[in-house]
Amino acid sequence: MNMKLSRTLSTMLDDPRLFRQHAYVNGQWTHGEGGREEAVFDPATGEALGYIPWLEAHQIRAAVDAAEAAFVHWRALRADERCERLLAWYDLLLANREDLATIMTMEQGKPLPDARGEVEYGASFVRWFAEEGKRTFGETIPSHIPNAALGTIKEPVGIAALITPWNFPLAMITRKAAAALAAGCPVIVKPAGETPFSALALAELAERAGIPAGIFNVVLGEPAEVSQILCAEPRVRALSFTGSTRVGRLLLEQSAGTVKRVSLELGGDAPFVVGPDMDPKEAAFAAVAAKFQTSGQDCLAADRILVHESIHDEFVAHFAERMAALTLGNGLESEVDLGPLIHRQAVEKAAGIVDDALSKGATLVAGDQSAAPGENFFMPVLLTGLTRDMRLWQEESFAPIAGVMAYADDDEAIALANDTQYGLAAYVYTHDIRRIWKFLRALEFGMVSVNSVKMTGPPVPFGGVKQSGLGREGGTTGIDEYLETKYYCLGAL
Ligand code: NAD
Repeated sequence: MNMKLSRTLSTMLDDPRLFRQHAYVNGQWTHGEGGREEAVFDPATGEALGYIPWLEAHQIRAAVDAAEAAFVHWRALRADERCERLLAWYDLLLANREDLATIMTMEQGKPLPDARGEVEYGASFVRWFAEEGKRTFGETIPSHIPNAALGTIKEPVGIAALITPWNFPLAMITRKAAAALAAGCPVIVKPAGETPFSALALAELAERAGIPAGIFNVVLGEPAEVSQILCAEPRVRALSFTGSTRVGRLLLEQSAGTVKRVSLELGGDAPFVVGPDMDPKEAAFAAVAAKFQTSGQDCLAADRILVHESIHDEFVAHFAERMAALTLGNGLESEVDLGPLIHRQAVEKAAGIVDDALSKGATLVAGDQSAAPGENFFMPVLLTGLTRDMRLWQEESFAPIAGVMAYADDDEAIALANDTQYGLAAYVYTHDIRRIWKFLRALEFGMVSVNSVKMTGPPVPFGGVKQSGLGREGGTTGIDEYLETKYYCLGAL
């Protein structure tokens, strides 16, 4: 283990105990018994921040054993007792906001203000679901059976496996875990190997909040190996995954054998439609915000920008001007808008997508890679003349590459926006009420945001249609992913 570099991260923290380099199973910080480990890198500097162990198969099963044993007590608590523990966790997340943000910036690369924002955003789900757990009401059903009383009660589904990505290392865990815990389910979290330290800090704070051993577990290991065990394990009753559509499909298949409850939050490739009535500057500034958050590594990133031909050129000019003002750098430094991409392969993929677009006739308006401040950085790119045969149209770039296409009328814009395997989120910018309603109804997406870049948060149902996923997180529907409905018939009354 590289202790020198590990100490570097811990010395950045007010509370060094938040930096953990072990898995967390049954309330214990756990070594890998097979001696396998993985280095975690700071994407801005390329330096190793620390190492995490890879658990062996029997250690993953031990986490399931622990969750099974702990479930008995956790589900038997009153909802308000679980709420108390979750609110204590929420308070601790906010009290340790700076340290959590520092860990996140160092392992993920996003600028510190964005990381602070994610801690608050992630914590807000804990508070929401702490309260929502007290409202998992069943129903009374008017009886069609003589002398009988009919109804439903809601019960926790059981152990939930949560597999999460690196782009939002904290909030993608709390959005799932808070709902599961509030419903009475124990969780086994498998974070992305690129960003395990945020997950482990969450575990440390869950322990301090009085969440019992075995209820919040973090397992680490070779992703396919860990996922296969969790999917095949019959005692794991729910699987919630956020990540790529490719891996989501795989997990859905692997879960078929045990007929689990599966929730999938997958890829995006969002269209951003700008109507002819819009002020091109206002729309361009909004599109920049919707495209470049987390350096474009966001499932909600505006990937296919569709602008009415009458304002296309003005829009592009304002977009380029705004984009030129973005500063790239190490997220720990002040005045940085965009951090690095997560690793070198992401930079190579981005370069390939730009080359493909240029070879098929796109125009490079701006984007000079020679100005990149480090090997994992990718300078923002603006391309016009986007066409449907380009990778930039067909794939999620997960990079700061903006592609603009002009369209002639609403019907064309709708057809283009829907021309994707994905269906997570769509943006529409227009002040014409009839156009708003037309787009709202016609767009095949789980979420449509009109004249607003911000759309997510605890009270809303987040999720996609088509190959963007199954189920919803957040809102009153979010907790249902972790609840079974039990019907009862009391006869002979
Ligand atoms: P990914 O699918 O590569 O990884 C996600 C998780 O799956 C990680 O924990 C990873 O270790 C694990 N994994 C990777 N390969 C696996 C395998 N073969 N078997 C089992 N598990 C495996 O995705 P990513 O690159 O971490 O994240 C980017 C993707 O996530 C994008 O497509 C993005 O759109 C999507 N995403 C979606 C949402 C949403 O809410 N819909 C939110 C954030 C990210």
